[in-house]
Formats: sequence, structure tokens, C-alpha cells
Amino acid sequence: VPDPANPLVAVLGGGQLGRMLGLAGIPMGLRFRFLDPTEAAPAAAVGELVVGGLGDDAALRAVTEGADAVTYEWEGVPAEGARLLEREGHAVRPSPRSLDVSQDRLAEKQLFEELGIGVPRFAPVEDRASLHRAVEEIGTPSVLKTRRGGYDGKGQVVIRERDQVDGAFDEVAEGGPLILEAFVPFVRELSVVAVRALDGEVRCWSVVENHHELGILRTTRAPAPQLDGVVEAQAERAVKLVLEELGHVGVLTLELFEIEGGILANEIAPRVHNSGHWTIEGAVTSQFENHLRAVLGWPLGSCDARGVSVMVNCIGVLPDPESVLHVPGAHLHRYGKEPRPARKVGHVTLTAPDEAELRSRLDALRSVMPDDVG
Ligand code: AMP
Repeated sequence: VPDPANPLVAVLGGGQLGRMLGLAGIPMGLRFRFLDPTEAAPAAAVGELVVGGLGDDAALRAVTEGADAVTYEWEGVPAEGARLLEREGHAVRPSPRSLDVSQDRLAEKQLFEELGIGVPRFAPVEDRASLHRAVEEIGTPSVLKTRRGGYDGKGQVVIRERDQVDGAFDEVAEGGPLILEAFVPFVRELSVVAVRALDGEVRCWSVVENHHELGILRTTRAPAPQLDGVVEAQAERAVKLVLEELGHVGVLTLELFEIEGGILANEIAPRVHNSGHWTIEGAVTSQFENHLRAVLGWPLGSCDARGVSVMVNCIGVLPDPESVLHVPGAHLHRYGKEPRPARKVGHVTLTAPDEAELRSRLDALRSVMPDDVG
């Protein structure tokens, strides 16, 4: 039953992102219902859980019944299901178009190109022969990726020499259509998390610096240290263009490569993002709260950073909580997931008033983390 005093938000997906949405929304009086294939979904701690497939129309109808807004915390949600909900009168935010684009690396890159945003050279690959032609065109080193379904570095392979072309094709071809991209000798990886309100207002959090290990995000520094003002402006302009072109409502993340004097766009996530977790303690308004404000048509909060932050992901293993909490400025997040190799099971955000203090706190944190923070 709709209750305007306590809006119900239906979230497709019930992982840690859903859990953190719930944690941000409960103080504002929001209620949550999540759809997830597993009973053990982390978001079950902060709302009602419907166990079911994200491609199952009956489950989609059950989770969204009476909802004031429908959103998602996973970009793999079938766009068809989101369209069905829209046709049935639900406010689905962001709209399914954001899913269409972000689910296909080729569509993403074409969108960047149309908007005049720099991208690595790329070519679609349909079969082995077209891969050989694409390698002729783009050269080596290059990266062969599945267009759909890849995440955390899965479904991609680097081609360094011509004699690796067939092997690379065999490695990823069963993942469906492919795209070949030039390998970017980037200075570092950046991302920008931004939010667009229902009335079209766009706000960006600080551009951040990301470090990956084995294809998985390991640390985020916010704001990105020593960021050139021109690069920062390019990143903000790019994410704004994407948000506006998609008519996106809610949070969207743009992942970037910083190269000499500029940026190249890598990919977008049409949702709250791991590289925005620092905003919970490190910004005036978190990505989770602003996403909810946006999808409900409410005013956005300030995205200003409070001091400087570093977010460290806990991958496959959790630290001892007491040791972490001894570190000044440390905030521990555990997702309630069973630790397994390569699985994101929590994160720690360290905040500090300045760089020097952050460095000293990071040294203290390193000494209590169970694995090498890098
Ligand atoms: P993706 O799934 O596209 O975000 O790729 C995962 C990671 O692989 C990125 O964060 C980069 O570290 C690396 N990577 C992806 N594409 C490229 C590229 N074209 N050139 C260099 N490194 C890349």
C-alpha cells in the first residue's frame, strides 16, 4: 500500500550496494524491498527480500508492487524486465536506456564517440576473421573483451603479439560478441561518480584515483591526488554529457584512463559504484543518499568532500574489526557475505583532514589488514 510519508523503494538486486542504499534511506524514513536470487542477500538486513530471478516477470511484479520508485543496484538487470515495469506504470529510475548502453561495451564506446568524449580506438569483432582484421587496424598491444557480461576483468584478454590472436579469440569467444580496444598506456585510472536529479540538475563528487588488483578494485583515493584542473574539468564534462544524453535519473559512474594531458573513457556503470563508497563518510552527502533523493524526485544534497579519504576493499578476507577500529579515522563496513577468494566482502574508509595525516593513518591501517594493501 503506497504510504507517502514512508516511500517504498523497490531495488532490483540485493547485494552490498542494495544494503548501503538501505542504510542511507532508512534515516529519511524510506522503506525497501529487494529482489535477489539468493536468501543470503546482504540487503536482507535492511528491508524486505523477495527471492527470485531478476529476469522473472512474476518476481519483478512481486518486488515492485506498491513501490513509489523502482531502481537497481546491478547493471546486469535484464532491460526487458525494467521495460515491462515501466509499461505497467512504475517509475523506473534510471530508465532502461541506461541499462541498454551500459550492458554493451560497443554501445558505450559509440555513445562516448557521439558525445565527443575521448575513447581508446576500438572495433567490433564478430568472428575470427574480423578479429584478424581488427588487429590489423588497431595494432598491438590491444585488449579483446566480451561486449556483454564482463566485470572485474573477466571476459577479457590482452593481445601483445600477432601470434596470440587465435588463442585470445578461443579464450573469450564463447562469451558472445566481442570488441577489440587499443591497450591504453594510462598514467592512472580515475572515475567520477555523479548524480542527476529528476529536474535535470547534475552534481559530481570529486574525481577519484582507483587501483585494481587482478582486475578488481582495491583502493580509491578521494580526491585523486595532484589532479590537473583540465583533466578534472574534462571528466566532469564527460559524465555530465553522458547523464544528459541518457536522461539518466540517479547516480552514474564513469570510469576513465588518465593519459598525458587528458582522459579516455573506459566504461559507465548506471548505478552507485564501489569507487564512490568513500562518500559515505568522506562527502557531505553520500552517493547512496543522493541516488535515493534523485529517484524519488527529491532535492540533491551537496557532493562536497570532507577532507581526504581512501577506501580499501576487503577482497576474500576480512580484517579483525577491533584492530581496524583502533586506526584513527577508520570506518569499517562488512557486507554480511561469506568470505570467498576474489569476493568483495567489505571495505574500510579512512578519512583525514589532510594528505599527511591520511598517509600516517594509511600506514597504521596497512599494518592491521590481513593482506597486502599495495
Ligand atoms: P574493464 O572491465 O573494462 O573496466 O577493465 C578492467 C580493467 O582492465 C581496467 O580497470 C583496466 O585496469 C584494464 N583495462 C581495461 N581496458 C583497458 C585498455 N583498453 N587498456 C589498458 N587497460 C585496460
